[in-house]
Amino acid sequence: MQRFDEAVVGAGIVGLACAYHLARHGRRVVVLERHPRAQGASVRNFGMLWPIGQTPGAMHQIALRSREHWLNILPDAGIWHEKTGSLHLAYREDEAQVLQEFIHAAPANGYEVEMWSPETILRNAPRINPENLMGAMWSPSEICVDPRAVIATLPGYLTAKFGVEFRFGVTAVGCERPAVRTSAGVIEAENLYVCSGDEMQILYPETFATLGLKLCKLQMLRTAPTGDYRLGPMLAAGLTLRHYKSFANCPSLPALKERVARETPEFDRYGIHVMASQNGGGELTLGDSHEYGAEITPFDSEVIDRLILDYLQSFLTPPNGKEFEIASRWHGIYAKHEEKAQIIVRPEPGVTLVTGVGGAGMTMSFGVAENAVRENL
Ligand SMILES: Cc1cc2nc3c(=O)[nH]c(=O)nc-3n(C[C@H](O)[C@H](O)[C@H](O)COP(=O)(O)OP(=O)(O)OC[C@H]3O[C@@H](n4cnc5c(N)ncnc54)[C@H](O)[C@@H]3O)c2cc1C
Repeated sequence: MQRFDEAVVGAGIVGLACAYHLARHGRRVVVLERHPRAQGASVRNFGMLWPIGQTPGAMHQIALRSREHWLNILPDAGIWHEKTGSLHLAYREDEAQVLQEFIHAAPANGYEVEMWSPETILRNAPRINPENLMGAMWSPSEICVDPRAVIATLPGYLTAKFGVEFRFGVTAVGCERPAVRTSAGVIEAENLYVCSGDEMQILYPETFATLGLKLCKLQMLRTAPTGDYRLGPMLAAGLTLRHYKSFANCPSLPALKERVARETPEFDRYGIHVMASQNGGGELTLGDSHEYGAEITPFDSEVIDRLILDYLQSFLTPPNGKEFEIASRWHGIYAKHEEKAQIIVRPEPGVTLVTGVGGAGMTMSFGVAENAVRENL
């Protein structure tokens, strides 16, 4: 029988972050991942570490704390990252108004942001479409990572630095503490952390069913490498102001939402807002849409991809000046809660479910995990 202090289910970013915090406190940790390598939301995202999307107060503080951990780990693990910051671009009066309102309240809310003029934007992000550009909100706190590289590299780093053991291709199927039953036999662990992402049917399905989580499917695209084409800051535009709760208190937001719903209902129909990041290899990661619950099918929609690309081209000029050359398309699914940005629950002593990080799991992971493991240290 193999014995550990802590067993973590899932080698997505939340499981890896829990393993990190436990192991650096001297605990002997094993991570169980049912796939040969993690393939869930953690490898399917933009790689945007995006504190600016978090609501003021506790959630923004967790995002900033998480960012500190990321900035310790990424260089130590030799993982590419770039402190690009972010721009929210405004092409319409109502978009500029919402950004002004956000910026006005920002010092009291703990955000460091400023309005950039079109000239400053184009100096820092020369590929932005200048036509009708009114300004943008600059935030320096966002960091770009390549999620595929992060999730591929962190397990080796955690093993080399802290002795964390990984069991890939092993499914955890049940827990009667200290026994954890797996598809490869039984192990023993004092505590169990279930970081199973959108998979809520294998372990503690009765508890998951009570948490009020819903699934969300997002369509994404990635371009071929773009040579010397550099994006500069990661990008969002007017549609994104409808998406992140950090903008919810801006008085002009309802009017903006109403205008988008009236002029372009297709964006609401598919939950589309458009963002872009660029990894070290020059590939642009583009997205996304949001479809919920029973709307989710295995089939990706060309209509959605087209809407994303057309909107993108309203603010970003492709490398060849004509259209973006798409190299791959995929979708990802995450579990989210309507009000809560994280869920940490203990269905029985020694067992912790860490879930519900929704569309901000990369951003929040190391902060949420730190809170989740604290009780057992
Ligand atoms: C398209 C898309 C774009 C996104 N963009 C961003 C972004 O730019 N920035 C950001 O902050 N967030 C983003 N997110 C959100 C973020 O990716 C997720 O919140 C985060 O990756 C969730 O991590 P996780 O570890 O909880 O889940 P997952 O990555 O899904 O990992 C769970 C793992 O658990 C394993 N597992 C499940 N059950 C078992 C079991 N019984 N035994 C063994 N293994 C098991 C699974 O195989 C899986 O590998 C995005 C999400 C998507 C889908």
